[in-house]
Amino acid sequence: MRIDGHTHSFISDGTEAPHLLVTSAYEHGLDALALTDHDTLSGWDEAQQRADELGIVLVRGVEMSASYQGVSVHMLGYLPDPNDANFLDLLQRIRQSRQVRLQKMVDRLGADLPGITWDNLKQVSDDQPATWGRPHLADLLVLQGYAANRDEAFSKYLHPRGPYYEIQWSPDPIDLVGMARDAGAVPVLAHPFSSRRRPMPDEVIKEMARKGLFGIEAHHREHDKAATQHALELASELGLEVTGGSDYHGTGKPNQLGEYLTTAATMRNIAAEGATEVKGL
Ligand code: AMP
Ligand code: FE
Ligand code: FE
Ligand code: ZN
Repeated sequence: MRIDGHTHSFISDGTEAPHLLVTSAYEHGLDALALTDHDTLSGWDEAQQRADELGIVLVRGVEMSASYQGVSVHMLGYLPDPNDANFLDLLQRIRQSRQVRLQKMVDRLGADLPGITWDNLKQVSDDQPATWGRPHLADLLVLQGYAANRDEAFSKYLHPRGPYYEIQWSPDPIDLVGMARDAGAVPVLAHPFSSRRRPMPDEVIKEMARKGLFGIEAHHREHDKAATQHALELASELGLEVTGGSDYHGTGKPNQLGEYLTTAATMRNIAAEGATEVKGL
């Protein structure tokens, strides 16, 4: 089975509607995909309906934001209970803090770059995302002629060491493992050794494992050979499972559907622990 463990729709910072993302996965010959939009579950129903129509397996998930000592950390949460009030409240708080943070970045950028305003940002996409992030600001920078594409907007204006960057409030990653488990989600640390950011110490990941971390996303475009190897060794040492995913964002990134995969055995173990059913796995 070809299972892509990590994808985004325009409900967060991907560029395709959830139903079109599912169609794309089907057309790419995938047997299953996980929908893991940032900090929201609101693409689930549309994606599931399309998956049912096409007969492709959908794993309903989320990519949760955390921060460790001022560096952003991402955690995939597979199959949470979509009616868990505490969890929905947590995601809502993270989305809210993203807005506050984005407003600060817009103000700073707007002081230097005419046309970078909150009003213009809201008009960047017709399909108002549930979760806003820097990629939408990147789209505005492109629209206003300050960058050629998202990647250039990030390297010129939006990267964490630049003068315009601001981090949002989000939970501590060790606490987040427990909060995810409380909502029946299966937590997997996303791209922990990504070349894009300073990695967390292994000690922190060990502590996360003690709190119930299920796995580590070892197979990911932003992991070079050494990073993948380290992730595999750490997972083996800590008794964690290993996953893979494309982190597809439509046209927002070069990542292609199915470029990294999660095994069927691992996805079945995830399904066995999650609060939400996976149809057809
Ligand atoms: P934020 O969640 O607002 O901090 O923005 C981080 C998101 O930006 C990540 O989820 C990525 O999808 C996206 N991102 C980061 N770097 C780049 C890049 N160079 N090109 C395109 N998207 C990026
Ligand atoms: Fe993203
Ligand atoms: Fe991520
Ligand atoms: Zn992602």
